[in-house]
Amino acid sequence: MLKLVEYIWMDGATPTQKLRSKARIVNFTNPTLITLDEFPEWSFDGSSTYQADGQNSDLILRPVSFVKNPLKEIDSYLALCEVMDAQGNPHPSNTRARLRQILDQGAALEEPWFGFEQEYTLFQGRTPLGWPENGYPAPQGPFYCGVGADEVFGRDLVEAHTDALMAAGIMLYGTNAEVMPGQWEFQIGYRGVGSESADPLTVSDHVWYARWLLYRIGEKYNVTATLDPKPVKGDWNGAGMHTNFSTKSLRDPATGKMMIENYITQLSQKHQTHISEYGDKLAERLTGEHETCSISEFKSGNSDRGASIRVPLTVAKKGYGYLEDRRPGANADPYRVATRILQTICAID
Ligand code: ADP
Ligand code: MN
Ligand code: MN
Ligand code: MN
Repeated sequence: MLKLVEYIWMDGATPTQKLRSKARIVNFTNPTLITLDEFPEWSFDGSSTYQADGQNSDLILRPVSFVKNPLKEIDSYLALCEVMDAQGNPHPSNTRARLRQILDQGAALEEPWFGFEQEYTLFQGRTPLGWPENGYPAPQGPFYCGVGADEVFGRDLVEAHTDALMAAGIMLYGTNAEVMPGQWEFQIGYRGVGSESADPLTVSDHVWYARWLLYRIGEKYNVTATLDPKPVKGDWNGAGMHTNFSTKSLRDPATGKMMIENYITQLSQKHQTHISEYGDKLAERLTGEHETCSISEFKSGNSDRGASIRVPLTVAKKGYGYLEDRRPGANADPYRVATRILQTICAID
């Protein structure tokens, strides 16, 4: 049975990798039971994606995950791919392979769960959605979680995105309108539902699917979504990708309290290393203003939105649960962020 598959991968753009995709018709032998190994490897021209030079440009797309394409009425799939070189080894731009490696080196034994809060800003042309062409909207205050045509802009697109994520089976946790008008957030990952796994590889894959779907749906509205960490300079909130994580011992009432302190100490000693993995132009956002901690400082605190690491109120009260790393920018790569956090808290270097 022939089905349309959109192959999605990360390119080699620096300092921020972007998404690419191309479509292929795949013949599935058993259309009622589709498995990953039925998605063939495919090649692409790496010289057009900053991943190879012109002389020897063929690279391999290896499907590593698939979901239903929620934008098609006929059965169709999205297949997320790792990029491999001609020898079948991970290409240097393949940051997912490094996360796999860290999990194999022991981090998986800690049973880590992740939840990413992806903030983004909608633009129409050069202006954030809903902003006057010249000048500025009213100062920040009424927009966060607002309702009404004068408070929020782009909800139709946001809800179309939400519906698509649900239809594709992406681990969507929630969405909200953000502090700056035109800015929104969706969360992907742990949602405490049944025995669903929130392992970092699956959750990070789902962030990349959700980003692709956001851009793709934006095409229909002629609206672009940017992950720029500081899309408007001045007294306007930046956009981050707060990263929530827990491990078996952090979630355990018997050991949680000790592990909270333990992890925070380890994270404080590796602050600069983390910053270098948390996205481009981070200094523009991490100023110490607008619910951030300054890039040159490491702070932790209970329920403190001006901290690098926040212990959520319910977690501080119970003494176990999860931590929130507030430093990653909206343009951070979830594979790299998860890799760095696991390296630090599981002492793998
Ligand atoms: P905030 O108050 O910081 O805006 P949100 O409600 O936007 O928080 O998001 C909460 C995030 O925390 C979600 O991404 C969710 O998946 C994550 N989360 C909650 N509990 C855990 C846990 N035990 N382990 C890992 N992540 C968790
Ligand atoms: Mn949030
Ligand atoms: Mn937010
Ligand atoms: Mn948060």
